[in-house]
Amino acid sequence: MLRNKSQHNCIQLVSTSNNEGPAAEAHKQLRSLKEWTPVFVRGKIKNREPAKSDTHQGMHLIVDKELAVEYVLPLNDMSDEIIIKGDTVFGPEQRHLQLRTNRELRDNLYFRSRAVTRAKLFLGHEGWREYETPILFKSTPEGAREFLVPTRQKGLAYALPQSPQQYKQILMASGVTNYFQFARCFRDEDLRADRQPEFTQLDMEGAWKSEDEIMDHVERLLRNLWYHLLKQELPLDFPRMTYQEAMASYGSDKPDLRFDAKIHDITQHLSADLVGKITPLQDPIVDAFKIPISSDPKTTRKFVASFLDSPEGKPYLDNPNGQPGIFIGDLSQPMEGLGPLGYDYVMNTPDALATDHGDLLVLQARPNVPLSGGSTVLGNLRLALYKAAIAQGLIEPPDTMDWRFVWITDFPLFTPNNDTDPGQGGTAGFSSTHHPFTAPKSPKDVDLLLKDPSLAKAAHYDIVLNGIELGGGSRRIHNAAVQEFVFRDVLKMKPERIEDFRHLLDVLNSGCPPHAGIALGWDRLMAVMRGKESVRDVIAFPKSGRGEDGLVGSPNRVIQEQWGTYHLEIKE
Ligand code: ASP
Repeated sequence: MLRNKSQHNCIQLVSTSNNEGPAAEAHKQLRSLKEWTPVFVRGKIKNREPAKSDTHQGMHLIVDKELAVEYVLPLNDMSDEIIIKGDTVFGPEQRHLQLRTNRELRDNLYFRSRAVTRAKLFLGHEGWREYETPILFKSTPEGAREFLVPTRQKGLAYALPQSPQQYKQILMASGVTNYFQFARCFRDEDLRADRQPEFTQLDMEGAWKSEDEIMDHVERLLRNLWYHLLKQELPLDFPRMTYQEAMASYGSDKPDLRFDAKIHDITQHLSADLVGKITPLQDPIVDAFKIPISSDPKTTRKFVASFLDSPEGKPYLDNPNGQPGIFIGDLSQPMEGLGPLGYDYVMNTPDALATDHGDLLVLQARPNVPLSGGSTVLGNLRLALYKAAIAQGLIEPPDTMDWRFVWITDFPLFTPNNDTDPGQGGTAGFSSTHHPFTAPKSPKDVDLLLKDPSLAKAAHYDIVLNGIELGGGSRRIHNAAVQEFVFRDVLKMKPERIEDFRHLLDVLNSGCPPHAGIALGWDRLMAVMRGKESVRDVIAFPKSGRGEDGLVGSPNRVIQEQWGTYHLEIKE
């Protein structure tokens, strides 16, 4: 089989041992060649008995023609160690062979290239201009852990940008109005959750723009991409939901609206006695949701028991705030199987939780404090149960082409510190939810900066699609005094770390206009549009879960002499 250069088509080569002259030579040559050798072939196209199938290893086979070979010139050798059969699986150290033999992977990369071209075309038409910003930046406590680049000047280092955030804001003070950039960003993060240490954002910033205008531009861009690349029409306006509503109803700040079982606060409906049985917490909130798992209570019971027994279920049993309360609707039982919830509950079941035969009702207690972070325990349990029920065929999987976009707004400006993100390193006990440049949402929230910053809402919006955060942005603080106040008095950052931001404060102080922006995670967006779970399927050379590139072998050890150039030494 001779593949064409793009590997889309192939044609059968024929030659026989009866050939004479140069063709006899060609025949010998052809027999000795390994498949996948690059060749120059000359011959005559002939009609053939049509082949039964018009595909061969995913390529289009020319069914009614063949090439009678007269001359073959191999253009390279191929190592005998490489064996490529139809089912050969290549490891990351042979990424080139993964790509060469996997048409879908290559198509993902073509798709990505077309999507970039399309986005640039659209943004260009709408008056956005692409600007490049430096990759060698400086270390600042913007929020994520940075990669440092030591220099030959003793003690001095650059940092790779975690995003072009500060430069794009500086552009806003420089008279640029509509900036965008396909920007490579670097974050030295925990690589769980399919993250890459370097990734691409479509980064945008508009001077004189409001949150609504940025959201509107992004909706138009996404509609354009969906229309041209997927031939699908998206709705004219994307729904919006506040952070509070998303967390309360879905237990997540990136709700997948295709799963409709909402969470409800049922604290009012439960007796103190029952609450005492499901949690050691004083004055807790009890939330619940209902999923119709099956129409047979026995099946539902078996499903939940096996889920809680599995490694996925175990963390929920170890919750210090109490285990989940599991109830199964059963019309053959007294009070329809919900008796243990108490007479009052059964008589006045909240409408949304009315339970049918075989339905699963799950309760969970949590402390009575404002919701914070990205998800709640019950929100995670809800998704884990959906996933398990889908895997067992009890629930239909959601339609991957059912695109449910939603904007999440009104995030809290600050989030209590956690162990994973360095935040801004201040001593306030909390860090900026988005980044420290995000403006308070309203004048009331500016007042709260003085009174109780934990209650202040941010002019911050995230765009979420089917449970995946595609990007986020905000209106920015454009007043230097407010920005410095946030660093010093709210986040309580050390004076020397505030000085790391002096460039930004000076630039804001030069009459910087109001501005707002956003960044879309381009790898994630491409993965979603291609129906892929992992961003590795849409990146030519992705890094592994340990941040390694198996093909080139990075990161690699460097010798002491090289460290010495940077006045560095490895401590044993
Ligand atoms: N710089 C932000 C980020 O990387 C996006 C933005 O606020 O525009 O998440």
